[in-house]
Amino acid sequence: MTTPLRCVLLSETLDLARLFGPVLSEIADAVEVVTHPVREGAEAVRLALAWFPPADAFSRYPNLEAVCSIAAGVDSLLACPGLPPDLPIVRVVDPEQARAMSCFVLWHVIGHQRRFRTYAENQARAVWMPLGQQAAGEITVGLLGYGRMGAQVAADLAALGFKVLAWSRSERPPEAGVAHLHGADGLAALLPRTDVLVNLLPLTPETRGILNAALFRRLKPGATLVQVGRGDHLVEADLLAALDEGTLGAAALDVFAVEPLPAAHPFWRHPRIVITPHEACDASPQAVAAMLRATAEALRMGAPIPHAVDRRRGY
Ligand code: NDP
Repeated sequence: MTTPLRCVLLSETLDLARLFGPVLSEIADAVEVVTHPVREGAEAVRLALAWFPPADAFSRYPNLEAVCSIAAGVDSLLACPGLPPDLPIVRVVDPEQARAMSCFVLWHVIGHQRRFRTYAENQARAVWMPLGQQAAGEITVGLLGYGRMGAQVAADLAALGFKVLAWSRSERPPEAGVAHLHGADGLAALLPRTDVLVNLLPLTPETRGILNAALFRRLKPGATLVQVGRGDHLVEADLLAALDEGTLGAAALDVFAVEPLPAAHPFWRHPRIVITPHEACDASPQAVAAMLRATAEALRMGAPIPHAVDRRRGY
């Protein structure tokens, strides 16, 4: 029988033991979970599960070999000033989460296509007014990011007949129903054709602030923004100005620079903003446990860690 690998839970914002306790107990054969700060046996900690870890946490665990995010994104770990520069970072890859993201994005894209917001406004005034129907093929969705989430969203949108333009860093061959674009020229080609812009980028130094006034001005007039990446992708004042000028028609926001969104924030009361509380899709606790087990196994075998991110790229 193998000795379970010791794993510490590190978060300033979430009670990871409460959130993941039951599933972590199911992998007790592979992973022994301990709570930070570990008083005795800190040198035996080889793994961490983290979300916004405390800045000084990592220095207590000199023999850490990997840190796992509880999410698909790893920006909350990379932002930690105490993170050792060479420590491998692992992210959750969960096909069920990608399907949930796709359903969430479809809700907003179809809402744009079928004018749900106008019908809700009309209902509030008891106005019966058919607005006509647009075929899916008349709507172009511009996807920023074609990773695990973006690829699922693109496939589902294409299956429903929407036109899909997907922008990523790498050049890709054409695919059925999805046109691929990359680089600055690719973005320049995507924006003026886009009715609904969906942000599914990771937060990195290159993508921070990408949703700004200059980008909004290059979209089709009246386009809808679906912002499901990270709050710091968006320049908030530019969004409000673009909505007020009519450059953008509407925005669906799931992620924010400050979460929870403060009650006094102007987004809450803007008539053309739909807010959800960072709930587009969570990785399931089972997927988090599976990631920890796979990481522990790789460390034990000295094998490559599945779904370790490229720290140089930041995702
Ligand atoms: P992946 O790492 O699988 O994919 C990232 C994609 O973004 C890749 O296609 C990558 O390009 C592209 N990309 C990265 N940097 C650039 C750049 N500078 N220019 C152009 N394209 C770029 O991530 P996921 O699909 O798993 O997740 C994406 C993000 O979605 C997460 O990082 C997180 O921020 C957010 N998310 C939000 C959730 C929510 O509930 N709101 C839930 C889950 C995720 P390439 O393919 O060429 O490498």
